[in-house]
Amino acid sequence: MSTKAYAAQSSSSPLGPTTITRREPTPTDVEIDIMYCGVCHSDLHFARNEWGFTNYPVVPGHEILGRVSRVGAKVSRFKVGDLAAVGCLVDSCRTCAHCKGGLEQYCVGTGGPIFTYNGEDKHSGGMTFGGYSEKVVTDEAYTLSVPTNLDPASAAPLLCAGITTYSPLRHWGAGPGKKVGIIGLGGLGHMGVKFARAFGAYTVLFTTSEGKVADGKRLGAHEVVLSRNADEMARHASSFDLIVDTVSADHDIDAYMALLKLDATLAMVGVPPNPQKIAAFSLILPRRNLAGSCIGGIGETQEMLNFCGTHGITCDIEKIRMDEINSAYERMLRSDVKYRFVIDMASFRA
Ligand code: NAP
Ligand code: ZN
Ligand code: ZN
Repeated sequence: MSTKAYAAQSSSSPLGPTTITRREPTPTDVEIDIMYCGVCHSDLHFARNEWGFTNYPVVPGHEILGRVSRVGAKVSRFKVGDLAAVGCLVDSCRTCAHCKGGLEQYCVGTGGPIFTYNGEDKHSGGMTFGGYSEKVVTDEAYTLSVPTNLDPASAAPLLCAGITTYSPLRHWGAGPGKKVGIIGLGGLGHMGVKFARAFGAYTVLFTTSEGKVADGKRLGAHEVVLSRNADEMARHASSFDLIVDTVSADHDIDAYMALLKLDATLAMVGVPPNPQKIAAFSLILPRRNLAGSCIGGIGETQEMLNFCGTHGITCDIEKIRMDEINSAYERMLRSDVKYRFVIDMASFRA
């Protein structure tokens, strides 16, 4: 079926309207009328081929939330009219040890994890297309349920910004008695602050933006550190159990490694296009870990959504029209987003 979408046709062209083909729902598929789609910095990296592996045209968007409009005959968890969501993953091999262990994002089977856009689509033989579109069709097994007490627009970015910070904070044990840092107050960072605080950790935000200090505290940080101020940074030397780094551009990793305790971890989730430098001494003295984390598995994403439902956690968003996407990208590059843009798909249907 033919579906309206917004695509980048090359690394230098702005995004614009196009038409894509979605498959007719198979017996295990759910068709969703997209209401909202969050705008992740990865969308911008992909649209502009900043990581070097974009296939064009690319339809970005992996923070997808909407209403089920059709279901296949074998679908059991969704019915027409339900709220449903799709994050960064739409399929994987389902049989490898990682898939069986709920770590589908690290699938090592044939084809690996299939990402929501710019992934190899098993059904069409072409590429997958993301949520900057009217509709999406996904397998029920990779479709998430959304707690109905959450505002749908503000819940959409949980599907990437939420799970990408929830997962490393859980994995490395953010909780009572732990001092946890979050670097960068953007889409991921503001959810990292909310989750670290909700998990009971002593939460510190590192920001380069003086104008975000008050917001950092309002969002849950016990302390906010201006990372360009060496004296403020030095006060936290060798004191953190965990730091989650959400920065999307070149930055000084050593400056943050120096703030970790013995055996503590800095987990990178941001993906700056260039390789980042690290001094061996940052890891050696004292013994420290540098790690990374990719989104979260399907089960953990559902757990995160349920946690948000129970605790009333959503994202702080600014709604935009579909045709405002190119200026939203420019604002995101200036760190001028509070704290996630969400496309209102009604603006596209109208
Ligand atoms: P975002 O909303 O643009 O936030 C990034 C934040 O990083 C900015 O708000 C800014 O915070 C800080 N920052 C930006 N440029 C900086 C610089 N030159 N030096 C220091 N700080 C800088 O982006 P996002 O959507 O949260 O995504 C962040 C990164 O995570 C992207 O690279 C994205 O591709 C990646 N990502 C990874 C995964 C994963 O699975 N690992 C999932 C989603 C996204 P302040 O103003 O507070 O300094
Ligand atoms: Zn994302
Ligand atoms: Zn697998």
